[in-house]
Amino acid sequence: MTQLTGQCHCGAVQVVLELVYPPSILPLRACQCGFCRAHGAATTSHPESHLHIEAAPGALSHYRFGRRAVDFLICRTCGVYVASTIEADGERLATLNVNGVGIQDFAGRTPEPADYDHETDDERLVRRQARWMPLILVETQPSA
Ligand SMILES: [Zn+2]
Repeated sequence: MTQLTGQCHCGAVQVVLELVYPPSILPLRACQCGFCRAHGAATTSHPESHLHIEAAPGALSHYRFGRRAVDFLICRTCGVYVASTIEADGERLATLNVNGVGIQDFAGRTPEPADYDHETDDERLVRRQARWMPLILVETQPSA
């Protein structure tokens, strides 16, 4: 198993991405919605991976827009977009913005543009449940 670590620009939000496959075979996507383009986001997820996010209480903003189905986790201090999450069948799933948290293992790759505008709400849920990965979100003081 591989563990990739990253953090937002100011370090208030720490992430660990646990992979059973090398990062080179994970997808890298550039969602074409206005929010993701504004952040220059490049996201990855794999259903057999796990994502851990640790932040102090209140350090993360849970931003919603559009159909309001997804929580976009943003650092309140430095404004970095960290990850998107949904709750589905009692499980929290996520996709990680590797550009936002500075994971270098994806550097040099051109993210594949992804446009989900045509999808229905049901299609979005099915896609996210198939592709996104389990998230453990811990909102406590990071241990220094
Ligand atoms: Zn930050």
